[in-house]
Amino acid sequence: MVIANIAQLIIGTADLAAAFLFMYGLKRMSSPVTAPSGIFTAGIGMLVAILASFLYVFDVGTSAKPFLMVNVGLGVAALILGGGVAWWGGKKVAMTQMPQMVALYNGMGGGAAGAIAAVELFGAKSQGTTQLVVTLLGALIGAISLSGSLIAWAKLEGVINKPLRVKGQQIVNLLVLAGTVAIGGYLVYVAQGGAPPILPTPQLIYLFFACALIYGILMTLPIGGADMPVVISIYNAATGLAVGLEGFVLGNPALMIAGMVVGAAGTLLTLLMAQAMNRSVENVLFTNFGGPSKHKQGRIKGSLKPTGAEDAGIFMRYAKSVIIVPGYGLAAAQAQQKLYEFVKLIQAAGVSVKFAIHPVAGRMPGQMDVLLAEAGVPYDLIFQLDGINEEFKTTNVSMGIGANDVVNPAARTDKSSPIFGMPILNADQAKQVYVIKRGEGKGYAGIVNALFYADNCNMVYGDAAAVLAKMIEAVRGLGAKEAA
Ligand code: NDP
Repeated sequence: MVIANIAQLIIGTADLAAAFLFMYGLKRMSSPVTAPSGIFTAGIGMLVAILASFLYVFDVGTSAKPFLMVNVGLGVAALILGGGVAWWGGKKVAMTQMPQMVALYNGMGGGAAGAIAAVELFGAKSQGTTQLVVTLLGALIGAISLSGSLIAWAKLEGVINKPLRVKGQQIVNLLVLAGTVAIGGYLVYVAQGGAPPILPTPQLIYLFFACALIYGILMTLPIGGADMPVVISIYNAATGLAVGLEGFVLGNPALMIAGMVVGAAGTLLTLLMAQAMNRSVENVLFTNFGGPSKHKQGRIKGSLKPTGAEDAGIFMRYAKSVIIVPGYGLAAAQAQQKLYEFVKLIQAAGVSVKFAIHPVAGRMPGQMDVLLAEAGVPYDLIFQLDGINEEFKTTNVSMGIGANDVVNPAARTDKSSPIFGMPILNADQAKQVYVIKRGEGKGYAGIVNALFYADNCNMVYGDAAAVLAKMIEAVRGLGAKEAA
């Protein structure tokens, strides 16, 4: 009894400490300077909460004791297996595959919430109506998040290449969702003694989970692959909510708080991404923007003017100011180290260099910041859209590297463009613009970029890493000539 009380006290204190560490960690993630320590802090919080949960073995009152956790052996095995796979995956994952990894982890979070709910539902413990409703709600959201995230992963990974749409799909989806909710409602009705079940209760529970999983698949299949980061963020919020609800069912404050933090952060991220793309969340979920573009683009004035990497590099070496706009192609080429090497060279020649980051540059918010941080670019050189957009017009050179949609001036001028209204970086307003990309490939929105045809723009064709290597060589060669 005494041991149980002590264990309960330690669990309570550990949960509180974990909650504090989650929130403090999240706060630190708001700046790239403090983000790594923020992630570490939140990770410690998670470790504290996990270790504390082992204390349930000391029989901390039956209501608070999730019975599976009593099996210490299983718990340890799961920790070693899960931790090991995550450690290995985290080390191995390429920067461009980050969204896929987030999708998978997110699905696992949803699956874990669904599994807790399943344990509760199949456990045949008597639950009050509120508890049963909350359990079912968590199960529904968790299962949708699991299957939906897996489809999102398959789309990002290119396993599913096309959005799958059929006529009347929204109605079918609505019917499946309504059916799932109806089964849940019926389960509550039966549990309250309203009527004998038409099927044995376990079969009803299976049916409930099957319908919820199918709904997650149906809901995600029609959405275009390019919209998946927003969809993942929505599922992230949903997973948080599901975990929070199951935390309530288990009476576990750490789960409740972690769930709420994830749910709130996911919701905010979804709204910020939608805002940065000037789209509503509804538009992401129920239209086909991420699919093939139906937009018929008029003829763009001007012409593409290719130039050599060497010429562009040397031009920048003699410029006063350069703003660099990184995009998805930089991550795809893994050219961040080369980019910073080039920047250091021209800085040494007295050029002022800044980096301009669009909130949705790349395929995940923050991807460019992380990429540049990885290469050692100092944070005071990195500016977000609002902090730098006014500076382009007084800058000698802007250089887009694997960036396309985020610098497309059609967003400002062409009302018929699918990206009209999306805030963009005003790279076109610099005196000279260089764009590094491999060819005439389109960006995420599937439209041709008017900037590339502008009088002040030259295209430097090639893989970003190869082009930067040539630029570095050209500027170095110049130094050697000057010294001679
Ligand atoms: P884009 O996808 O618009 O353009 C990337 C460009 O990189 C392509 O035009 C491609 O051209 C080029 N590229 C690809 N590989 C290489 C390479 N190895 N070397 C050089 N260039 C390469 O990327 P942006 O970053 O400009 O824009 C991001 C887009 O993603 C925005 O439209 C945004 O709304 C969207 N998005 C972002 C989300 C986020 O959270 N960040 C979420 C959802 C959507 P080429 O093939 O000719 O080389």
